Amino acid sequence: MSETTERVIIIGSGPAGLTAGLYTARSEMEPLLFTGSEIGGQVNLTMEVENYPGFPDGITGPELVQRMQKQAERFGCRVVVDTVTEVKLDEHPFVVKTQSGKEHRCKALIITTGASPRRLGVPGEKELTGRGVSYCATCDGFFFRGKEVAVVGGGDAAIEEALFLTKYVNKVRVIHRRDQLRAHLALQQRAFKNEKFEFIWDTVVTAINGDQRVTSLTLKNVKTGEVSELPTDGIFVYVGHIPNSQLFEGRLAMDERGYLITNAMMQTSVPGVYAAGEIQDSRFQQVATSVGQGCAAAIEAEKFVAELEDRAYPGDTSPVSEEIK
Ligand code: NAP
Repeated sequence: MSETTERVIIIGSGPAGLTAGLYTARSEMEPLLFTGSEIGGQVNLTMEVENYPGFPDGITGPELVQRMQKQAERFGCRVVVDTVTEVKLDEHPFVVKTQSGKEHRCKALIITTGASPRRLGVPGEKELTGRGVSYCATCDGFFFRGKEVAVVGGGDAAIEEALFLTKYVNKVRVIHRRDQLRAHLALQQRAFKNEKFEFIWDTVVTAINGDQRVTSLTLKNVKTGEVSELPTDGIFVYVGHIPNSQLFEGRLAMDERGYLITNAMMQTSVPGVYAAGEIQDSRFQQVATSVGQGCAAAIEAEKFVAELEDRAYPGDTSPVSEEIK
């Protein structure tokens, strides 16, 4: 049991969390930030971020994250490599327990736990993950030098990562369940012009086959019902994300997909608990929007704590906000 009560704890170390760390540190709230198992979140797995302002030539995801961490730490943010395993939000100060067995209390909590790649959920996927099935072209693309791979999905992530893979592979087959991509037009145009691309439309993957490694995919055309087998050396899956909100089930309001519900002030259904980035944003999911949301959450958390400290400390009540209940 901790003896001190932190002013603010931040859960998560992606762009939203590190920005919240920077802002709360600059306002002398001495934030304590738990990184989760890896610092940086999803952007850390991105080879090139081309649309974050201030970097006209682009910047790699890992470098951007390192810079954000350094900037937050410069002002006193304590970045701790530990994973939060439990939170108690029905008492105040809130309780945050971590994998290392520590228990902390805090006046305000900022949740930036992000989202994780959605799996296809087909036979062979789990067994062959790391042996030809990947969710990260940046991490694994190198291992497919000179080979042929498939990419599943038609969104920005699928096309962007497929374009990245063309640096290494001889052929990228994009398998999409419709006959139109969801990705931005600019990305589409780059893909359509690239000779290493091939598109397999109206098709889903129903099984991933191989013994020691992926050797082929079983495909089904959703319009004709035709089943076929596609030989491939690897498959990269980009079919959207699932918010990392399991810790907050039954504790915070969330939508039917598990995204935390916040108001315009980034407040969740419990006053003093804020959320920013992809844990509460299924719409924009950009580094720039996550940074903005992390900044807003930090400013609101700071106001919340300042109000608490100006008046008598309110003890253990933490009513659910009427506004978004
Ligand atoms: P997304 O936009 O939700 O796209 C997911 C894709 O997977 C869609 O094409 C979807 O098909 C397909 N899909 C979903 N479930 C499937 C299933 N079970 N089987 C087969 N296909 C399935 O996800 P995302 O590409 O990861 O992007 C998420 C967000 O991040 C978006 O807002 C995106 O704009 C943003 N993002 C931006 C950039 C950038 O700006 N450079 C880069 C990456 C991501 P349908 O099209 O038929 O629904």
